[in-house]
Amino acid sequence: MKLNIKMLLFSIGLMVLMTVTLTAVSLYSFRHFSLVMAQEHNRTAAEIIRLNLTQAMVNGVIDKRSNFLQQLSHIEGLDYARVVRGPDVVRQFGPGLPNEHANDEIEREVLRTGKPFYEVGEDGFEAHFRSTIPYIASNQGAVNCLQCHEAEEGAVLGVVTLTTTISHLKTNAITVVGVMVAAIALFMLVALIFLRRMISPLVLTASEVQHAVECAGKGDFSRRITRRTNDEIGQIADDINRLTSLLQQSFSGICRNVSQLLHTTSEGGRNLLTGTIHMVSGLVDVAHFKQAIEEDETRHEVYARLAEIVVERFGMQHFSIYEVDAAKNRMTAVMVDGTADGEIHWCSRQILLRSNACRACRTGHLIDGIETPGLCTAFSPDESGWAHVCIPIMQSGTVGSVLQLVAKTEDTDALRENVTLIRAYVREAAPVLEAKRLMDTLRASSLTDAMTGLHNRRFLDEYVETLTASTHRRQSHLSILMLDMDYFKKVNDTHGHDAGDSVLKGLAKILSQSVRASDLVIRYGGEEFMLILQDTDGATAEQVAEKVRETVATTKFQIPGNVLNKTVSIGVADYPGDGDSLWQVIKYADVALYKAKDGGRNRVVRFQPEMWEDSENF
Ligand code: GH3
Ligand code: MG
Ligand code: MG
Repeated sequence: MKLNIKMLLFSIGLMVLMTVTLTAVSLYSFRHFSLVMAQEHNRTAAEIIRLNLTQAMVNGVIDKRSNFLQQLSHIEGLDYARVVRGPDVVRQFGPGLPNEHANDEIEREVLRTGKPFYEVGEDGFEAHFRSTIPYIASNQGAVNCLQCHEAEEGAVLGVVTLTTTISHLKTNAITVVGVMVAAIALFMLVALIFLRRMISPLVLTASEVQHAVECAGKGDFSRRITRRTNDEIGQIADDINRLTSLLQQSFSGICRNVSQLLHTTSEGGRNLLTGTIHMVSGLVDVAHFKQAIEEDETRHEVYARLAEIVVERFGMQHFSIYEVDAAKNRMTAVMVDGTADGEIHWCSRQILLRSNACRACRTGHLIDGIETPGLCTAFSPDESGWAHVCIPIMQSGTVGSVLQLVAKTEDTDALRENVTLIRAYVREAAPVLEAKRLMDTLRASSLTDAMTGLHNRRFLDEYVETLTASTHRRQSHLSILMLDMDYFKKVNDTHGHDAGDSVLKGLAKILSQSVRASDLVIRYGGEEFMLILQDTDGATAEQVAEKVRETVATTKFQIPGNVLNKTVSIGVADYPGDGDSLWQVIKYADVALYKAKDGGRNRVVRFQPEMWEDSENF
């Protein structure tokens, strides 16, 4: 209920209560007063009658008393007066006049008991007061009753019944009460008007404060409160105005700054409060995400975390993350609908073979398929009714990855709303992905021989432990083939270093093609190569070595302006057949290689333990 209505009801209630109470109290007082007055008057009249009758008796004119009593009825307000003889008087002086005996039970009762009787009788608006007062015999006072009356002290000599009209008292009382009620009502009305004028600024200010707080709750801090008075209410208005203006400035500032951080425009119509809270909490989450991905080891972990954000934070189940190989103009699907390396189904497979088929990848711009359906022709979901937004993730100045968000066309509002914040996550992920990709490239290049594209010796150093552990686990064997080109120096000396390089590249190619994908080809030194054959026994290894030797021997190496025939010598050893340590077995293969050189070159030699002893002695 509104404050002013409450005040009004309270005032009216108070007024009514006061009026009713005062009226009741006044009426009661008036009635009581009137009755006391009437009683006193009747007592006085009774006393006068008694004195008159006594005087008449003394003067011997008692038989003339009826005249006197008749004249009494002419007194204004006195309706009726009658004297009744008591039993002692009747006995002594006879029954008296006809109307001097008890007429009703009341008179008889008063004659019997000697107690006065009073009664108010109402007849419509007319009101009468009846008194029946006893005359008690007494030898005290101015007149000694017992001098004339043969009665005992305290005996009832007679009673007098008087009836007076008290209607005028009633009228007076009602008039006075009416005037009083009117005065109270007038006073209350004036008080009410004054009160209303006094609380009006409070009510209006309270209503404005309520409205301003309601608007502030909805993010609108523009409401101001009018200062109406110079008291505490005016002060409240000023204080609230200062507070709302401070909040408006602060929230606008925060919102502007956060919008800049999110690369978005702060929307004017939006709830400033919830909008700011939403954006700040979004930024905090983005900061946590950034911290987490910086501590991740691989870029696949970063992609997984980004996917988790898309699913958990934004509740989106349909999305893809593609990684772009700019050099090869190819793309790979890193994540599809939350599954790592999943089968792509939102886009045409064409983009995998030709990354430029992906519009986001080609242009480096956000592709909004909600705003412009069909913008990217590579977007080809299995059924219609789907829309997409593709966000390019820039790395080293080009598109390194693409985050594709997909939603049912009826759910695109939520998608559109999420895109701003998702882009903030993507912006944080981009430099981290870039750094991790660079690290991966650097690492790969440090383990690869630049000229031949084969693994280098460092790779072997790093990989040896994994290799031996997995061989042990599988209780299998590794064959080590150590290979060196025969008289290679001659190539350099005769045809130049470039020709030598070209022969080495040719040899590397032959070696790569001669082994299975699970086998390793390593450029161990200048023109010294190592083949590590997995799960191969000694005999098979010798066959492979022989095949390699033969292939090289029959190959014509093209060099500028010439064709060369070259041969290789190969030493073969087995791990763990020949030794418990892979490095030791590599040395054995090397020993076998030298045996092959010693044996005339262009041959394969299987390591024998005595070869090691010989080499030690040598
Ligand atoms: P052998 O049959 O005993 O092996 O005789 P060789 O001439 O091949 O002797 P050796 O294996 O010791 O010769 C290695 C030569 O390979 C020395 C070096 O000049 C050459 N060489 C090493 N690395 C490269 C390279 O990357 N490119 C070129 N062109 N030559 C290299
Ligand atoms: Mg050589
Ligand atoms: Mg050599």
